[in-house]
Order: sequence, then structure tokens, then C-alpha cells
Amino acid sequence: MLKEFEINASTKILCVIGDPIAHSMSPLIHNSAIQDLKINYSYIAFHVKNDQLKKAIDGMRAFQIQGMNVTIPHKLSVIPFLDEIDPLANQIGAINTIKNVDGRLIGRNTDGEAAIQAISDAGITLKNKKVVIIGTGGAARAIAFYMAKETQEITLINRSQPSMQLLKENLEKYYSITIKSRLQSDPCNKALIADADILINTTPIGMIPKIEESPIPAEWMHNKLFVFDIVYNPMNTKLLQNAHQCGCATLGGLDMLINQGALAFEWWTSKKPNRQLMKQRVLEYIAQKNHKKEEIIHENQ
Ligand code: NAP
Repeated sequence: MLKEFEINASTKILCVIGDPIAHSMSPLIHNSAIQDLKINYSYIAFHVKNDQLKKAIDGMRAFQIQGMNVTIPHKLSVIPFLDEIDPLANQIGAINTIKNVDGRLIGRNTDGEAAIQAISDAGITLKNKKVVIIGTGGAARAIAFYMAKETQEITLINRSQPSMQLLKENLEKYYSITIKSRLQSDPCNKALIADADILINTTPIGMIPKIEESPIPAEWMHNKLFVFDIVYNPMNTKLLQNAHQCGCATLGGLDMLINQGALAFEWWTSKKPNRQLMKQRVLEYIAQKNHKKEEIIHENQ
């Protein structure tokens, strides 16, 4: 057992790489769990540009970094530098977590499992449900591959064809459920959503600074729809505000964020982190940040 905040010659390193990375809440989330469990680890963030990615992964081996989270834009491009990929992450085509097992780097994707856990914790079951997923990027791929195990039907909506078509074909290769795809501009999307049980936004629409934007018009929602926005910054997006007004059950992206961190943490350290505490720290941090912003506004008045 360690004293709080002690770093010594045996401290094991965990980290996140990305570009940009300064906004990442992962150091806060993981270090909260490390301090709570009093284990000899420390979690830091590295700003790694594309042309330095291979060197960063070589560095993970050289410094014996035990675990690494990988975020935008490296989730796909890091794969060739690893020794092994978890089979589901291979189907998804992207990883967000690496574990160093005696110099052997293993990649896994915790985003899909994290999202499904968050939905399940919100009391929503997936069996026989019709799901609409807006956006077909990395996060959507991870979620869709997990959902396809249980749902009846998935409709993909995206602003452009290529990533949507690819995801549809990839899902159809592994699952026999109905997979539909529609461009975001398609006027039939209103009817699709009217018939859906679950709507998930996986685009950055509504994220800071464009917080007044929503991926669908408010009038398309109905009170039987469960609306999940994986954006967590802000936590109460325009989409969720509209859904709430329509009487929909809603879920923001924070629980998924905490879950993907907790799944990685447990994989690396074999210790169960306290997810409530991790969430509490993030909420405190956001409240503090908003308070500071208000202070600045008052000072400027
Ligand atoms: P990504 O791979 O870049 O995919 C983004 C998707 O959104 C693509 O389908 C893209 O369409 C679409 N898109 C982007 N900008 C758009 C716009 N202005 N209008 C319409 N569609 C747009 O990104 P990602 O990794 O999937 O992440 C997406 C969002 O999820 C981000 O906001 C991220 O912060 C959030 N996220 C949250 C969690 C969590 O734990 N809560 C985890 C991962 C990601 P095209 O195919 O046409 O480019």
C-alpha cells in the first residue's frame, strides 16, 4: 500500500495519446481511481502527432508503459504497430486501448461495451429493438458491432456515403439482423425515427462550441424513443434537451466515457475502479471549470 500521491522508482505508467489531447479527461478519471485504490501507478497524457505515432508505440515498449488509451486521430492508424488485436476490435477496425503484456502489445476497443453498459444501466434492453445510429465514424462502428448482437434492426444515418456503406457491409458480414442505411439529407428519415425505439447520436453535432446544433429536428422525436447522445461536452446537448421536452428517456455521453475508462483500467491493473467516484471527479471538474468561466465573465462586466 502506498501513501497518497507517492511516485517512486517502481511506479507503473499508464497514458493516453492523441492530437489534440489537452482537453482529455482521462488523466483525471484514471488518477482518481489510482489514488482511491492506492496502487503504484500514474496516468499521463501525451500529445502525439501522426508522424510520431510509430515512435510513440516503440516508446511504450521501451519505457514499459503498462497501458495506453488511444484517441483521435490514431485509433485506426495505430493497429499495424501492435502485436495482437482482440477479435471484436478487429471487426470494428479501430482500437482505443492497448495493454503491454511483457512487451507484447495487445489492442482492444472498449467504446462499444462501454456504451452498451451505459444503456443497460439506464434500464434499456436491446432485444428486439429498432435502433437508429446517426454518424458512422469510429465510435459508431464500436457501438454498432456490440448492438448487432442483440437488436432486431439497425439503421445507419450519415452525411456521406463511404463510411456508412462500409459499416453496413461490415455488419452484414457478421450479423444476420436487418441493417439499413440512409443519407442524413433523406426526407424519409423522419418516418424511420417515428418507427425506432432507440436513437443514438455519434456525430460531434451539438458539441462545444456549437451547442445550439442538433442532428435531427425536435419535431421528429416521440415519447417512446430512448435518446442517447454520446457527446459529453456539454453533457446536456441540444438533442437531449429537445428529447427531454418530448418526453423521451435520455442518456448523455458521460457514463460511456467513464465505462470505457473503467474497462481499460480493470484490464490493465486487474483492479475494479469505483466508477461513481470517477464520475464524481469529472462532474466536480466540469462544475469548477464552468464556475471559473462565470468568474471571468463577471470580471469582464
Ligand atoms: P469520427 O470517427 O471522426 O466520426 C464522426 C462521425 O460524425 C462521422 O460519421 C462523420 O461523418 C460525422 N460528422 C462529423 N461532423 C459532422 C457534421 N458537422 N455533420 C454531420 N455529421 C458529421 O469520430 P468518433 O471517434 O466516432 O467520435 C464522434 C463523437 O463521439 C465525438 O464528439 C466524440 O467526442 C464522441 N465520443 C464520445 C465517447 C464517449 O465515451 N462518450 C467515445 C468516443 C467518441 P463523415 O463520415 O461524413 O465524415
